Amino acid sequence: MTAPVAYLDYNASAPLLPEAAAAMTATFALAGNPSSVHRAGRAARAVIEDAREAVAALVKVTPAQVVFTSGATEANGLALAAGPVTAAAVEHPSVLAWAEAATIPVDADGIVDLPALENRLREFPPAVVALMLANNETGVLQPVTDAAGLAHGVGARLHCDAVQGPGRVLVNFQALGADTMSLSAHKFGGPKGVGALILRPGLELSALVKGGGQERRRRAGTENLAGIAGFGAAAKIAVTALDNAHRIAALRDVLEARIADQVPQARVLGQGVARLGNTSCIVLPGVPAETQLMRLDLANVQVSAGSACSSGKIAASHVLTAMGASEADAKCAIRVSFGPGSTVADIDAFFSAWLPLALTAAA
Ligand code: PMP
Repeated sequence: MTAPVAYLDYNASAPLLPEAAAAMTATFALAGNPSSVHRAGRAARAVIEDAREAVAALVKVTPAQVVFTSGATEANGLALAAGPVTAAAVEHPSVLAWAEAATIPVDADGIVDLPALENRLREFPPAVVALMLANNETGVLQPVTDAAGLAHGVGARLHCDAVQGPGRVLVNFQALGADTMSLSAHKFGGPKGVGALILRPGLELSALVKGGGQERRRRAGTENLAGIAGFGAAAKIAVTALDNAHRIAALRDVLEARIADQVPQARVLGQGVARLGNTSCIVLPGVPAETQLMRLDLANVQVSAGSACSSGKIAASHVLTAMGASEADAKCAIRVSFGPGSTVADIDAFFSAWLPLALTAAA
């Protein structure tokens, strides 16, 4: 008998919410192109504008500030393509791809070094500073508002990759002080392959995907109607998900307490600082992440090694090495990330597969 699945990889992607699936399915009956003026076109357009309102409400902006994209990778590119970009060393690869080689260091908890940022900005003022809301590997929160103040002081924009935030922490675009912010539907129950860039009112960016005039000329191409509908449905639910976030944080704390109790040689990164309540980044010295992942996968427990975005290859995570972890330790780190579907049974499943490995390594 196969063990029930314990899916503990919400930071890589969350299961599609039934409400999102239903909203998507409903669009398959719509023939119209959202840009067409006839009734069928207007019906498709209405779906998009309803979703735009829901996404806007999620991050407390007006619908006109929302540009739908194919995901956060594209949204990050749209915000950063104009460059030059100064980024923190722990940003997602889709941000680092646009950034200057000289990144801003972080401390042992992964928090950006603000004085170092300030010095860099004074010497080499960029067009954009990129600082994420919460790190995808550790969950550690960044001082985005402070960084925005520094960026604005040298006339630069602040871009915030807020992909890991919705449903887990309040995401208030204006309070962050950001000029642009990226979101991705599939991290909180929407479909994969759709996201958004949020723009400060009045900010004009030149399109990355050029052609037609869709998305107020900021992103050409016939809209991903089903994807956007699913994104909107998930956004409506994420607005109310914060109560659940406390339950999820309590689960995560149970996992970490059991680790501290039974596997004292393991370390949880960022444990002492403000971070997402759903994420644990665990270093088990001497046991490569591949080995941990395989053992867990055999028991039907699904977690990631560092970032899942590196296409199945497990190299030392740039996030952990930037935090000062040795290359050896960084290769022994796994990420457990919880979500609304997580239960104590998932933690039990994790522990029964992982504990023998940890104890053998310690012996
Ligand atoms: N930024 C962060 C912090 C992420 O975790 C991810 C997803 N791994 C992305 C950007 C890319 O998002 P998408 O999958 O929508 O392209």
